[in-house]
Order: sequence, then C-alpha cells, then structure tokens
Amino acid sequence: MIEDRVNEVLTRIGAVWPSKDTSDDTYAEWARFIRPFEVKTAQRAVDSLASTCKWRPSMAEFREAYNVALGNPSGQRMLGDGVQQTIDYSDSFGSAQDDWVYCFACWGAITLEERATTPHYTEGHGMRHANCPRRGTVPTAPSHIRLQYEEKKRAR
Ligand SMILES: [Zn+2]
Repeated sequence: MIEDRVNEVLTRIGAVWPSKDTSDDTYAEWARFIRPFEVKTAQRAVDSLASTCKWRPSMAEFREAYNVALGNPSGQRMLGDGVQQTIDYSDSFGSAQDDWVYCFACWGAITLEERATTPHYTEGHGMRHANCPRRGTVPTAPSHIRLQYEEKKRAR
C-alpha cells in the first residue's frame, strides 16, 4: 500500500488501542511491516481485531487477522514474509480445514497421526498435543476459533 494508506491504517490502530509507546521506531517498524499488505484487507483485519483484542495486537496477530480477512487462515504464507509460499498441510491434518482440531495449550493444529495415537484430552478444554510443536511449524487456530474457546470458557 502507498504511504498515505500506511499512515491511515496505523492511525486507526493508534485510535483503537491508544498506547504510550508512540516512538518513531515503533511507527517505522509497523510501517515497514504493513506496507506490503493490501489496504482494504488490512482495514478489515483492523475491524476484526478491534472487536476481539483488548490490547494492541502484535504484528503476528495482525498478520493472522489479515490472512483470515483474505479468507486464507493458514494454508498460505502471505505478503509480509517477503515471499509468497504455498504450504500444503493436507496430508498431516486432513484437507477439510473445518475439521482440524487445535491444541488448547499452543493453538497449533493437531495432526491426524497425533489424533490417532497420542491424544491428550482434558474435560472442558479439549485436545492438546503430547508435545507442543515449535511455533511456526504447524498451522495455528484462526482467531474465530480462539474466540469461541474464550467464550465457552467464560460461560462455564
Ligand atoms: Zn500444543
């Protein structure tokens, strides 16, 4: 997006989550991060984060919301990584993303094999990994799944 739009999106983030940290470094870092994104999708990401995040989102959370706004929760790495890379997880997790099960401890998806062999199930929470994988090595739960979990937890 062009510089004016970068400014517009960052101004919105500052308005939704006011912060004491208004340093030029922080701004420059966010501007650099957000520049490769498409502006309308970035605005939709801000909309969705505004209603789900109590605190200013991290860049990782922003990217996740952006991918969800693109209708592409975790199958594909998006702009902002510098490269656009397709990752096919269908072998390990099943091809129907709606059927994926996420770990309540780390929010990573649980592979079909783990589900068949080493499931840890906690009443009231759900499934978790026997050993949580390193961050970034498995797809993670989209924010609406996390939100559902938080709402269920609150309802108890
Ligand atoms: Zn886990």
